[in-house]
Amino acid sequence: MIRFFILLFITLFFSNTLLASHVERFRWQNGETYLVFLEKLNLPVRQLYYNLDKDDQRLTEEMRAGVHYQILKDTNNDILQILLPLNDELQVHIYKNGDGYAFEAIPIISTTRNEVLYTQINSSPNYAILKKTGSRKVAGVFVAAFKHSLNFKNDIRKGDELVMLYSQKYRLGQPFSMPTLDAAMIEMGSKKHYIYLNDDDRYYDEKAHEVEGFLLARPVRARISSYFTKRRFHPVLHKWKAHLGVDYAARRGTPIVAAGSGKVIYAARMGSYGNLIKIRHNDGYETRYAHLKSFRRGIYRGKYVKKGQTIGYVGSTGRSTGPHLHFELRKRGVAINPLRVVQVTTKKLKGKEKKAFLQLKNNFDERIDLHLNNKTPYKKPPRFEDMCYIYMMDDING
Ligand SMILES: [Zn+2]
Repeated sequence: MIRFFILLFITLFFSNTLLASHVERFRWQNGETYLVFLEKLNLPVRQLYYNLDKDDQRLTEEMRAGVHYQILKDTNNDILQILLPLNDELQVHIYKNGDGYAFEAIPIISTTRNEVLYTQINSSPNYAILKKTGSRKVAGVFVAAFKHSLNFKNDIRKGDELVMLYSQKYRLGQPFSMPTLDAAMIEMGSKKHYIYLNDDDRYYDEKAHEVEGFLLARPVRARISSYFTKRRFHPVLHKWKAHLGVDYAARRGTPIVAAGSGKVIYAARMGSYGNLIKIRHNDGYETRYAHLKSFRRGIYRGKYVKKGQTIGYVGSTGRSTGPHLHFELRKRGVAINPLRVVQVTTKKLKGKEKKAFLQLKNNFDERIDLHLNNKTPYKKPPRFEDMCYIYMMDDING
């Protein structure tokens, strides 16, 4: 299936040069910038950066260390195509176009697989999951989900079991981006604890009470005018765009509060963001507040602020069409949807919502029980070598 997609994809652009080309795979280096990357490869910076619109320029700033990217070259080692993933849904596509090169943002072709993990625990759940899957990310999402409600240190007994239902994206045959935990059960001294991802994108326990995670306050009392999206097709511009934050439409001068306690690590102008505040929180979280009219007196870099404390005022500085707050949440540098964590109070589902949740919970429970009874063995995903780009190109050449 994956091979088919890649083949189709390359064929679209390079049907005539396909047979004489090869793919090289690289890792984005720490501190590497898009402009330096272009210069290093001798690619035209005007065409591929300075001539782009501001949105596309901003997208190029989203490249982060450790991300794998591919370069397709012909037999003369000339670059035909480059794919740079920006997030788990959007990528930059640079391709040869006549004498020059062209730039576009396009969706990432990925497949999502639902995976199951059953394991017994000898010491910690983190270690048990890591040993089975070899994935820190899979272990990480499990631990994070229960972090605020359970204490793994004291209450686990040797031989306790856990089941994890999660989904993982694959791109070019490799696990890609963070897995999403759909439901999980962990036994602690024979008492079972559950967590479920509901249709509202929040986690609940077996009693339909929301499980507290990292909670943010709403940064401003206002209507949301634009939602977070990793990719969206702009109907007028006919281009793929991303909006890596949430916009709140509010009157100029409306106070903005810190969505969580933390340290101000930036409070100054920054390009299209205009007046920008960045706050660093625990656990690798960072919030950003853009287009501010002004900062509150006493808010500067290095200052510690409390959740709910006023830090600045709504404005329209930078690239903005009217007064609004552009609010971003990042975890270890990656933009995530703030509405997943922004809320005023934790929720207890009632009525219709509760009924729908219980239905969903029953379905998950059936699956969890099945895997508990079967002690379902963990299936390692196929190795990269078995279905990569290069292998496929060899296939064609041979
Ligand atoms: Zn915005």
